[in-house]
Amino acid sequence: MTNTNAPALHDDPTWAAKANSEEIVSLAALVGGPIVAAEAPALPGEPHEHSGLLERILTLLAVCLPPAALIAAIILLWGPGFGWTSFGLLIGGYMLTGMGITVGYHRYFTHKSFETNVVVKALLGILGSMSVQGSLLRWAATHRSHHQHSDRQDDPHSPHTHGDGFWNRVRGAWHSHMGWFIRPNRDTLMRYVPDLQQDKLTRVISNLFPLWVLLGLLIPAAIALAITGTWTGALLGFLWGGLVRIMMVHHITWSVNSVCHLWGNRPYKSHDHSRNNAIFGVLAFGEGWHNNHHAFPTSARHGLRWWQFDMSYMVIRCMGWLGLAREIRVPSHARRHAKTAG
Ligand SMILES: [Zn+2]
Ligand SMILES: [Zn+2]
Repeated sequence: MTNTNAPALHDDPTWAAKANSEEIVSLAALVGGPIVAAEAPALPGEPHEHSGLLERILTLLAVCLPPAALIAAIILLWGPGFGWTSFGLLIGGYMLTGMGITVGYHRYFTHKSFETNVVVKALLGILGSMSVQGSLLRWAATHRSHHQHSDRQDDPHSPHTHGDGFWNRVRGAWHSHMGWFIRPNRDTLMRYVPDLQQDKLTRVISNLFPLWVLLGLLIPAAIALAITGTWTGALLGFLWGGLVRIMMVHHITWSVNSVCHLWGNRPYKSHDHSRNNAIFGVLAFGEGWHNNHHAFPTSARHGLRWWQFDMSYMVIRCMGWLGLAREIRVPSHARRHAKTAG
């Protein structure tokens, strides 16, 4: 349940003292400017205990059902059960909802790395929601708290907070990958997103999270039904374009939290263990250049070198050329040079 009487994060004197001492990254540094705080009382539409419970049930189901569906799909339906329609729905759904997370939830809503119009904003929020990684507000709040406390005790998903030794490291890796996702959120989580809570469209999209989850499952089934004309085809569309697609996006996104804080190189100074990992640079649409991202959180471009493939940034650039994105932020050469690890 959200603690509505808590002061906005940057008004908290303890937090301010910590931020000044650089013990934690300031919230303003994560969005490239001051955050306008929401004052108590609670804003209309603010997530409450009931919607939080429904969201947690949905996300728990979303974790457990897709692997079972994948096994069922492979065992029962391999051969005639996996054709071009299933393949297209799986890859197309993965691209669209994955971009909803990387371009939408992450680079646009959480870090404000570019501006866009209201239609694209809604589309990005809805596509991100269809990935079933939690509502927009909850995702952004969790991610901002990850940046602020990165690899310290208050980080919601660090692999480095479970102690030394082999089994503690395994526990840390499990926690950072998906263990954190099925735990309840902290009461004060929403203090990280006062700016997003004040935006009506963002609030509405976030509160309608269960609807977007449902549509993300029904749309691929409906497309498959239209193409094949059979109910078996619709079931396969639901399995491959819905459940299996959700599992793919889940594990590749979560690998950024786990793998990219464990394995890879660290070309830039950052207050954490974030790393650049080329495999997830490609698979996670540029998010795997994670050390770059922790060093420059507001940058729309995560693959900062020409060879660091960053599909999300390519999409944002294309959106810019089409007039759908503006004020695209990238760090200057001077800032990059200043943060280069010696
Ligand atoms: Zn990180
Ligand atoms: Zn981030």
